[in-house]
Amino acid sequence: MKRLMKKCIENIRAYEVIEEEYDIKVDANESPYNILNELAPIILKDIVSKELNRYPDSEAVQLKKKIADYTGINTENIMCGNGSDELLKVIIDCFVDKGDVVVTHSPSFVMYRLITEIAGGKFIELSGDESFSIDIDRIISTANENDAKLIFLCNPNNPTGTLIPRDEIIRVLENTSSIVVVDEAYYEFYGETIIDRIYDYKRLIVLRTLSKAFGLAALRIGYGVSAKETMDILNRVKPPYNLNSISQYIGEIVLDNIDIVHKNIETIKKDRDKLFVELESMKDIKAIPSGSNFILIKTSRYEDLMKKFKEDKIKIKGFGTKGVLQNCIRITIGTKEENDRILKLLKEV
Ligand code: PMP
Repeated sequence: MKRLMKKCIENIRAYEVIEEEYDIKVDANESPYNILNELAPIILKDIVSKELNRYPDSEAVQLKKKIADYTGINTENIMCGNGSDELLKVIIDCFVDKGDVVVTHSPSFVMYRLITEIAGGKFIELSGDESFSIDIDRIISTANENDAKLIFLCNPNNPTGTLIPRDEIIRVLENTSSIVVVDEAYYEFYGETIIDRIYDYKRLIVLRTLSKAFGLAALRIGYGVSAKETMDILNRVKPPYNLNSISQYIGEIVLDNIDIVHKNIETIKKDRDKLFVELESMKDIKAIPSGSNFILIKTSRYEDLMKKFKEDKIKIKGFGTKGVLQNCIRITIGTKEENDRILKLLKEV
């Protein structure tokens, strides 16, 4: 089989999702709140009338209308995807050929590297300082020196929660000639966006998702936003019928009931800030300020902590003891009770 496989995936390892029993799950930046608790009666009311024998609306017209209301962006500038992961791939398939260079900051979302390498592109990651700052000047110069096709900016960044101010993103757009993808998967926990500038910059693509703040990770609803000319290119590659009917339908209902989402976001933000204050005061822990629904900590007690988390059936993201994220653990903000249990464990160790 190796003889038949594409050369550029020879060194790629499968994206690993470990399935294990847990009491608390704070490893994947999901929302702790299940929207079905509030919306089940509305969702169940009409679901029986759905025609499961028919393909979904390939253009997700109704869902796009709701996203347009939410974002203030025209429907013709929006594309829905089976998670924003799918849209990342659509973008790479449109712009990155074998040997093309893609630049991003490090650490960042692992999928950027994976999809670039699958496409045979060359991936350049630029690390910042100890506090995981993002060096915009270096991103600009590296992109220009390597004639980069594409730049990924993750804002707020996963896994650090660090932020890139709007004028810094504009600076990247003004000083490079690359496609600039701004991944705003965690936008709602921060509040600042670059989405309104898609009309000014054709090279700007903004990605969002309903997997995080909206609490719909199971449904895999992502969307991308760009100028019409850029959208016409993305549309050449988007698979037809890519977002299933049930996801479209529930996405519409949740967007119609955005007050519930806002309430959950406010709770998560408050709990994040509370947890951060506690973490900051702890010995052996350095907590990185976060504009997201998770907090990254660096700790000299990494191994002891990971062992204890495992024993207590707390599923959490540890980044190992090597590399740019050595001794780092990312804690997704859970319910108050979950956050308290994590804090208790940290204090005990
Ligand atoms: N971008 C970032 C930065 C993420 O953290 C994630 C999910 N972990 C995604 C994109 C993908 O989200 P989804 O495919 O669920 O929309």
